[in-house]
Amino acid sequence: MRVGIVGCGGRMGLMLVREVAATPGAILAGGTERPGAAGLGRDLGTLAGLDPLGVAASDDAAALFAASDVVIDFTAPAATVGHATLAAETGTALVVGTTGLSAADHAALAEAASRAPLVLSANFSLGVNLLLGLVRKVAATLGDDWDIEVLEMHHRHKVDAPSGTALALGRAAAAGRAVDLDAVKDTVRDGHTGARVPGHIGFATLRGGDVVGDHTVLFATEAERIELTHKAGSRAIFARGAVRAALWAPTQPPGLYGMEHVLGL
Ligand code: NAD
Repeated sequence: MRVGIVGCGGRMGLMLVREVAATPGAILAGGTERPGAAGLGRDLGTLAGLDPLGVAASDDAAALFAASDVVIDFTAPAATVGHATLAAETGTALVVGTTGLSAADHAALAEAASRAPLVLSANFSLGVNLLLGLVRKVAATLGDDWDIEVLEMHHRHKVDAPSGTALALGRAAAAGRAVDLDAVKDTVRDGHTGARVPGHIGFATLRGGDVVGDHTVLFATEAERIELTHKAGSRAIFARGAVRAALWAPTQPPGLYGMEHVLGL
C-alpha cells in the first residue's frame, strides 16, 4: 500500500513517517509540507531521525495524491479541507486526524467522502476508542441526577480547545442520554456563572508542558463519583492507529468512516 503523509514535518507527521517505515505492507509514497516550511527538499527518513528513505519532502500535494493509494493528514483545518478536495478528485483514500474542524469543514469532508473512502477520528488510539463506548454506556445507564464533566490536559503547543477527543467523549455521553451535545455543552465557565444547569455536560481544559493527552470523564451525583480516564504516553499510539486505518481505507468503498469501523467495534 503506497502511503503519503501531508504535514510530514509536524509532531505527528514525523511519528507517521517512522510508523509507515516500520510497517510491513506499507510503502512511503512521499510527504508534503506547507510552502516555505523548513524541511522542504530534505529526505523524509533523515527528517524523522531514520536512515535516508530516498523520498524528499515536497509542497506538491496534488502529485502526492496521484502517487498514493492513501494519504494521512494530521495538519490544520484549512489544509485538511484542501486535501479532502484532492482525495475526492483522485479517488485516493484519506485518513484525517486533524482536530478543531468547524461544522463547515466537517460538511466539506462529508462531501469528499462521497467520492473517496475517508476515515476521520479525533483520536486514533485503541484505548480512547474503547473509552468512547464505555462512556456512552455509563451515560445511558445513569439517571439525569448524575452530572457529567469532561476534563482534558495537553501540551503547551496545542491550538484548539477543548480537544477533539474531549468533544468526542462529550458526544458519546450525550448520545448515551439521547441528547445533542451542542444543546447541553458548557465549554466556558468564568465569573458569576450561577448554579450548574441540570443535564449539561461541562468541559475543563488544562494546557502545559509536554503532556501528549489525558482525558477523564467524570460522572458525579450525591455522595458518589465515577471517573473514567485515559492517558496517552506517546504519540506513537495515534500513529499506529492511523497507519492501521490507512491500510484498511483503500479496501473500502467511498464513505465517511470512524476508527470504530477500522477496529470493528
Ligand atoms: P504540528 O503543528 O506539529 O504539525 C502540523 C504540520 O502540518 C506542521 O508541520 C505544518 O507545517 C503542516 N501543515 C500545515 N499546513 C499544511 C499544508 N497545507 N500542507 C502540508 N503541511 C501543512 O501539529 P501536531 O501536534 O502534529 O498535530 C496536528 C493535528 O493533529 C492537530 O489538529 C492535532 O490536534 C491533531 N492530532 C490528532 C490526533 C488524533 O489521534 N486524531 C493525535 C494527535 C494530534
